[in-house]
Amino acid sequence: MDVLQKIKSLREELNLHNYNYYVLDNPTISDYDFDVKLSELQGLEQKHPEYFDENSPTQRVGGTITKNFETVKHDYRMYSLDNSYSKDDLLDWENRIQKVLGDVPLEYICELKYDGASISITYENGRLVRAVTRGDGFQGDDVTNNVKTIKAVPIKLKGDFPEKFDIRGEIILPFAGFEKMNQDLIEIGETPYSNPRNTASGSLKLQDSAEVAKRPLDCLLYSLIGNNLSFQSHFDGLEKARLWGFKVPKQSHLAKNMNEVFDFINLWDKNRHTLPYETDGVVVKVNDLHLQDELGYTAKSPRWAIAYKFKSEQVFTQLNSISYQVGRTGSITPVANLEPVQLAGTVVKRASLHNADQIEKLDIRINDTVFVEKGGEIIPKIIGVDLEKRLSNFERTIYITHCPECQTELKRKEGEANHYCPNFYGCPPQIIGRIQHYISRKAMDIEGLGGETVALLYNNGLVKNYADLYDLSVEQILPLERMAQKSAENLVQGVQNSKNIPFENVLFALGIRYVGETVAKKLAKHYKNIDAIANANLLELVMVDEIGDKIAQSVVEFFDNQENISILERLKSNGIQLEVSEDNNSVVSDKLSGKIFVVSGVFAIYSREELKKAIEDNGGKVGSSISTKTNYVIAGDNMGPAKLEKANQLKVSIISENDFIEMLKL
Ligand code: AMP
Ligand code: ZN
Repeated sequence: MDVLQKIKSLREELNLHNYNYYVLDNPTISDYDFDVKLSELQGLEQKHPEYFDENSPTQRVGGTITKNFETVKHDYRMYSLDNSYSKDDLLDWENRIQKVLGDVPLEYICELKYDGASISITYENGRLVRAVTRGDGFQGDDVTNNVKTIKAVPIKLKGDFPEKFDIRGEIILPFAGFEKMNQDLIEIGETPYSNPRNTASGSLKLQDSAEVAKRPLDCLLYSLIGNNLSFQSHFDGLEKARLWGFKVPKQSHLAKNMNEVFDFINLWDKNRHTLPYETDGVVVKVNDLHLQDELGYTAKSPRWAIAYKFKSEQVFTQLNSISYQVGRTGSITPVANLEPVQLAGTVVKRASLHNADQIEKLDIRINDTVFVEKGGEIIPKIIGVDLEKRLSNFERTIYITHCPECQTELKRKEGEANHYCPNFYGCPPQIIGRIQHYISRKAMDIEGLGGETVALLYNNGLVKNYADLYDLSVEQILPLERMAQKSAENLVQGVQNSKNIPFENVLFALGIRYVGETVAKKLAKHYKNIDAIANANLLELVMVDEIGDKIAQSVVEFFDNQENISILERLKSNGIQLEVSEDNNSVVSDKLSGKIFVVSGVFAIYSREELKKAIEDNGGKVGSSISTKTNYVIAGDNMGPAKLEKANQLKVSIISENDFIEMLKL
C-alpha cells in the first residue's frame, strides 16, 4: 500500500471508531488500539505534509487560535420557535394550521427541546465546511474550528448524502461533564460555572480550539435544510441523517395525531430527569415537508412547528435561616436553610444564595415563603419570594459583617461578588481546607490520611498548617478517636512518602489562589524551583505563557507573606521536593491527553510515583479507582484481584509497565 492510501485508510478507520464511540455510544476497539492508530496517522501526516487534510481525525485535538470570529450570513435563516405552555395552546395551534391546510390528516414529529447553543453546519460533498452560531438568525459567528473538535459531529459523511446541505442542531454539555468541569474549578478555589447551557455556548466562543477539545461537549441534530433533498418528510430526513453519521436522538418520535403528541409530552415531562442532559420542553413539528412549505413562516418562526415548554418544577417552602459557609480560600457563601420539601424526586433542604448581591436582589427575609426551582442544575435555586405571605415583622436580611468561624471582619475585593474572611492563618475552615487540599490526590496524594482526620488533627491541636504534618508521630495520633495502631502507622508513613512527590504537585498543593494543576505545571517548568518563583516580580510572572494578572498578583502576595515563607522553610528542611528533578524533566508531551489511567501493583522499572508523573507529564490523568471513565490500567505485580476483575468487567485495557513505556515512545 502506498503512503497516501495508508493515510486514507487510517483516516477512514478512525472516523468510523469516533462514530461508534461518540454517536452510537458503542466502541468496537480499545482506546489503546485507537491511540496507536491515531499516533500512526499523526506520524505519517507529519512526514508527508503534502497530504494534509483539514478534515483529518488528527485535527480533532484542536490547536487553532481564533482571535475574532468571522460573521457569516446564513444561506437559510435560522428561525426561533413559538412557545406554548398548555395542551389547549397546542390544540389552538392545530386549529390554526388546519384552517390554512384544510382538513388533511396531520402527522407530527415530537422531539425533545435540547437546552444548549444552536448551530448550523454546512456539508459539501460529504465534508464539513462550516459551522455557524445562530447569531441574530440572519447571520452568526463562524465557529468551525471549535465545532470540529466535538467528536459527535462527523467531519466526513457516509452513505448517499446530498451534495450540499445545512444541518441544524444544538451543542450541549451533558450534566456529567458539566459537574466534572465544576469539580475541577472548585478544587482551585475558582467560581464554578452556573449552568450547562451557558457553558456550552461560551465554549463555542473560546479562542483556543484545543481548550474546546477538552470540554465534553455533544451535538444533537434535528433538522436538514437544502435544495433538492431527497425525502418528503421530516422524519425520513432524520432517519437519513442518522445513516450519514449524525447523532439524532432516538427519542424523536412520529405521532399520528395530537393525542399521541400529548402522550409523548406526558412521558417526557415525567422522565426528563433521567436524561443525561438538560431539556426544557418538547418541539412539535408537522411531518410532511410539502405541508411545511405551504404553512411557511411568520416574521420570527415557522408556522409548522411549536415548542411546548415544561413547567419548571417549582415549590413553595419557608426560609428558616441563612447560614454562611467559609471555603478554603476564605470565600463566604450564604446558604438558605429551608423547611424540607419534595421537589423533582428529591427532598430539598438547602439552596445556595450565592452572595450578598443575590440576597439583596431577592430581598429575602427569614420566615419568608420562597419559590424554589430545580432546573437542569443539581442544586436548587431560590427564584423569588411570595410577598403576600410576608408579615410586617419579618426583618430585612443584613449580610454578616464578620466571619462566622473566627469573627474577623469580612472584606470584599472590587469586582468580586463574594465577601471573604482575610484571616488566612487563623480561620479554622480555611486552615483545615488548606491542609485537606495539600493532602488531596492531585496534590501530595497522601495515603492513609483523609479529610475528616485532618479536621480531627486540627481540633486536637496537632497540626496548624501542612508543615506540621511532617512532625506527627504515631504516639501523638494514637489517642485520637477511632485511631488504631495500624492506621496511625499508615498515616505517618503516608506523610513521609509524600517527600517523593514532584515539585509541580507540591506547588499545586501549597494552595496558592488561582494556581491550579495546569498553572502549577507551567510555573514549575518555567522557574524550576521555589526560590525562583518566590523572587519573581509581577512583571516577570505575567511574561510566562498563560499567566495572567490575577494569578501573578496572587503568587506575589503568597510569597510576600512571612508565615508562608517560614512554612516553606520547614517543608524544605523536611526534604519536600521544591525543585524539578533533572531526570524526570525530560519527557513532556500531550500524547496521553484525555486519557485516564489507574496505576496498580508493584513495578520493576519505575516507582508508582514516577509512573503517575510520566502520565501527567504527557497530558494524561491518574484516577484512583477503576470506572467506566478509565482508559487504561497499568498493572504491576500483585495487582489486587478485585481490581483485575473490575477492569475486565468494564472492558478497560490492562497494560504492563512495558506497554506503557512503548506508548510514550510512539
Ligand atoms: P427559542 O430559543 O426559545 O426561540 O427556541 C428556539 C430554539 O430551540 C432553536 O433555535 C433551537 O436552538 C432550539 N431547539 C432545541 N431543540 C430543538 C429541536 N428539537 N428542534 C428545533 N429547535 C430546537
Ligand atoms: Zn474567618
